[in-house]
Amino acid sequence: MRMSTLFLRTLREDPADAELPGHKLLVRAGYIRRAAPGIYTWLPLGLKVRAKVEGIIREEMNRIGAQEVQFPALLPREPYEATGRWTEYGPNLFRLQDRRETDMLLGPTHEEMFTITVKDMYSSYKDLPLSLYQIQNKYRDEARPRAGILRGREFIMKDSYSFDVSAEGLQKSYDAHRDAYIKIFQRLGFEYVIVHADSGAMGGSASEEFLAVSEHGEDTFVRDETGYAANVEAVEIPQAKPVEITAGAAHVEDTPDTPTIETLVAALNADHAHGDGREWTAADTLKNVLVMLVHPDGTREPLAIGVPGDREVDAKRLEVKVAPADVEAFEESDFKRYPMLAKGYIGPGVLGEEKSSGIRYLLDPSIAEGSAWVTGADEHGKHVLDLVYGRDFTADGTIQAAQLREGDLGPNGVGLTLARGVEMGHIFQLGTKYAEALGLKVLDENGKLVTVTMGSYGVGVTRAVGMIAEDNLDEYGLIWPREIAPADVHVVATGKDDAVFVKAAELVAQLETEGLEVIFDDRPKVSPGVKFKDAELIGVPTILVVGKGLEQGNVEVKDRRSGDRREVPVDDAVAEVLREVRA
Ligand code: ATP
Ligand code: MG
Repeated sequence: MRMSTLFLRTLREDPADAELPGHKLLVRAGYIRRAAPGIYTWLPLGLKVRAKVEGIIREEMNRIGAQEVQFPALLPREPYEATGRWTEYGPNLFRLQDRRETDMLLGPTHEEMFTITVKDMYSSYKDLPLSLYQIQNKYRDEARPRAGILRGREFIMKDSYSFDVSAEGLQKSYDAHRDAYIKIFQRLGFEYVIVHADSGAMGGSASEEFLAVSEHGEDTFVRDETGYAANVEAVEIPQAKPVEITAGAAHVEDTPDTPTIETLVAALNADHAHGDGREWTAADTLKNVLVMLVHPDGTREPLAIGVPGDREVDAKRLEVKVAPADVEAFEESDFKRYPMLAKGYIGPGVLGEEKSSGIRYLLDPSIAEGSAWVTGADEHGKHVLDLVYGRDFTADGTIQAAQLREGDLGPNGVGLTLARGVEMGHIFQLGTKYAEALGLKVLDENGKLVTVTMGSYGVGVTRAVGMIAEDNLDEYGLIWPREIAPADVHVVATGKDDAVFVKAAELVAQLETEGLEVIFDDRPKVSPGVKFKDAELIGVPTILVVGKGLEQGNVEVKDRRSGDRREVPVDDAVAEVLREVRA
């Protein structure tokens, strides 16, 4: 790659639409350019880096015997209709029509296509196990495309699918993928955690995510000292054990103008001294949150969720628990249709399938049988105190949707810590959901038809490039890990002396003969300062400067990460660079 001809323009200014430092640098250093929101063009340097990431993934997938294929991105509706995902995917799916007005879509993930292709080609248990993968463009109309290539609307995913006749077979395929992913993420250089995940719209059971630990993460996960780690969506808080009832009979009190937890707690402390002599806190109150579920067929169903007043309902946890239904706000117009709901004072007196509202009422599992609460009395300006769960009110079940906090007890009975991460990979045991919907069956040893059991496994390739950039940078530019860098060495020729350029070109030729990839800044009439800045911005780990020192027979080898530089005799330059690269 010769900088004099390379299709590249580095920018001194940050792009206006970039939030994260790595994203800014990828644009400034000429790796990617935005084509539209969440849609990016890959320039020569970017493609090099992407190919390195793809290469690592490909090697590890091939190592476990998975075979590479490529499906189209433009797909027919029917298979997605058969599995219900044409509808379930909701607004995230890019749907379109061809000239005959036939419905089509741009693939967000390819379970359906792999399933029907295997069905077309295979019919016996002898053909299995089978693992197939592709590295291919995916399309999702993300509500909030973000941080450049971290969340794109067009992005590249490595997706693989395993096909087995038995649960044990599936477990083996899953474990092989899990091991391959561990190798991939180690090689990509992430600090990552493997967390229990929710399997969301994919259906199926066992599912884990590989999260890159990062403050930029949109995903919150929890872990504990026993090694348990889970996405917040997947955390199951243990059901609180029943407690002995200590509260007296429930009693309704006037609490005028207390529609919020804050105003309620203040009023309680002012007018209704706590029996124990302590202050009331938000945790003594039971907050009943109403939402509207919208099912895939369009039907709307209200849902009431009871949580301790010091917690919010966590939108992400809730979404997953009610999927495939969507969650919408409970509007003023909805309140009109349920006159028994006294907004700001809603309580278990009217909530529940058997109660006057008929609205399903689910409680947070931290609410123990026997515990006493202050909650709405279903009349404006009134609350009920000492209302005991199990004695004075019941619910239709529990739901794991409350916001989690540092220190909450997790499934192992020890405190959880919270951290943020970016989902880099996801492995699922799908089971027979897709095979069943699309009729993928094979004959087993006894000549009986059995439904094939499947796994699906994804790695975000372009997201990985973005995340590696976020993790490897300084104020001057990117600093690629060696295995990912667009080149092994960046050779900079400086000065006006022709001899410098001739010698530099000679060194480049020798380095290339040794099999190294070289970026050669051979631009005439560009100042050394600009060349050094560009080299730092681009971020190849080793920089070789051929310049003034050449008169004394020396060149300079620079380490981009540490900033260390040393003069070496020009005759040793190639050997020195090779040592760095192969270290
Ligand atoms: P997220 O929760 O971040 O939206 P997801 O759970 O929808 O991701 P999967 O369907 O599991 O994603 O896709 C497999 C992998 O593809 C993810 O682990 C992630 O690395 C990558 N990926 C998903 N959506 C995007 C996107 N919009 N842009 C870039 N990569 C993505
Ligand atoms: Mg996922």
